[in-house]
Amino acid sequence: MFESLSERLGSVFDRLTKQGALTEADVDTALREVRVALLEADVSLAVARDFVKAVKGKATGQAVTKSVTPGQQVVKIVHDELVRTLAGDGPADALKIDNPPATILMVGLQGSGKTTTTAKLAKRLKEKSGKRVLLASLDTNRPAAMEQLAILAGQIGVDSLPIVKGETAVQIAKRAKTQAAMGGYDVVFLDTAGRLHIDEVLMDEVQSVRDIAQPRETLLVVDGLTGQDAVNVATEFDGKVGITGVVLTRMDGDGRGGAALSMRAVTGKPIRFVGLGEKMDALETFEPDRVAGRILGMGDIVALVEKARETFEAEQAERMARRFAKGLFNMNDLRSQLEQMLKMGGMQGVMGMLPGMGKMAKAAEDAGFDDKMLRRQIALIQAMTKKERANPDMLQASRKKRIAAGAGLDVAELNRLLKQHKQMADMMKKMGKGGMMKQAVKAMM
Ligand code: GDP
Repeated sequence: MFESLSERLGSVFDRLTKQGALTEADVDTALREVRVALLEADVSLAVARDFVKAVKGKATGQAVTKSVTPGQQVVKIVHDELVRTLAGDGPADALKIDNPPATILMVGLQGSGKTTTTAKLAKRLKEKSGKRVLLASLDTNRPAAMEQLAILAGQIGVDSLPIVKGETAVQIAKRAKTQAAMGGYDVVFLDTAGRLHIDEVLMDEVQSVRDIAQPRETLLVVDGLTGQDAVNVATEFDGKVGITGVVLTRMDGDGRGGAALSMRAVTGKPIRFVGLGEKMDALETFEPDRVAGRILGMGDIVALVEKARETFEAEQAERMARRFAKGLFNMNDLRSQLEQMLKMGGMQGVMGMLPGMGKMAKAAEDAGFDDKMLRRQIALIQAMTKKERANPDMLQASRKKRIAAGAGLDVAELNRLLKQHKQMADMMKKMGKGGMMKQAVKAMM
């Protein structure tokens, strides 16, 4: 699917992971090569640029985890960024086919693989979900295309709407909906007519069909081999008829794969499926994680870094648990706690995980307890010396002033932080005596 991109990136990272220590220049050189590899794979310029920028930002801010090399860590960052680029805000939903009969509108240019994909999806729904499916071709310009859908339907053992000569696309859509409702079908596919290029007449027809059919899903089928053009077609179709997802076909070829990488970032629409051949089974759901793995071909390293990070975090949690159990809780501990909270998505994130806390999170934010506050508190702790962090009681008024100024904040805010720390330390001491702290911290981490 991504042979050439995968090969290029593979050789960049092979070199990187063999080095023990990495300079910033090493990372820069590697990222320049990544950028060229992406552009050669026909990833859009803006996406390639953002990609490299994001990786660089994360690579420089990264704490070094023991037991993996910096190069291996960079591979993991690139992998995660690939997943993010492919998946956007989150993974694509499953097809919405509740409330039967659900209509799925198939749109796209002629030759993109629309009819083939329609039949593949129907087969999948029939076999994997036991759905009753009806197929209808709306391609009134090409009788051969209508026949083709009927033939494919026969092959996969699902029904197709009988062809009636002289009907318009809208009339066929109406008949298909009626037939689907009366016949007790779960899903009805409307395979619209394609043209060689996007034109007004085609778009008008698809819009009228959409208005009548009220589809649950409008899937655009595009040829993955056409690279950046596929992304442009998706942008056009989305603007004119509104699509809910994309199916990229011909991903079995040695295409450059750029369409897959740019699609989500440029159009905002998820790739739902990929076509991997002419056979009726050659269709897969699109899974960003797996695709990123294929592009990089470095699954072992990604797994290794994940494991190392988990171990590192577990060790840290263990160390903290031991300290807390002894009633020890200094400013460094508080800072770790605050950083942990930020990592878990800040106040909102932490509270959002607890049932019924959503409202409280909002109230806390209104009262000024937000991520910014966490960051300010971390800045205050950073402005202290090592000794002061270990023993904040030693802080005199003049030092407090200097620390607050160092963090660019008010002394009042520092005093609040110190008070908060004192309360927490007292609580730790009490709980430490009971010996229950160790379990509590472990459960929390
Ligand atoms: P339509 O005009 O958009 O309906 O396109 P068709 O469904 O008729 O497909 C055009 C050609 O592309 C056919 O020969 C299909 O077998 C082929 N095709 C469709 N999807 C794929 C795919 O994922 N991989 C490959 N290799 N060929 C495909």
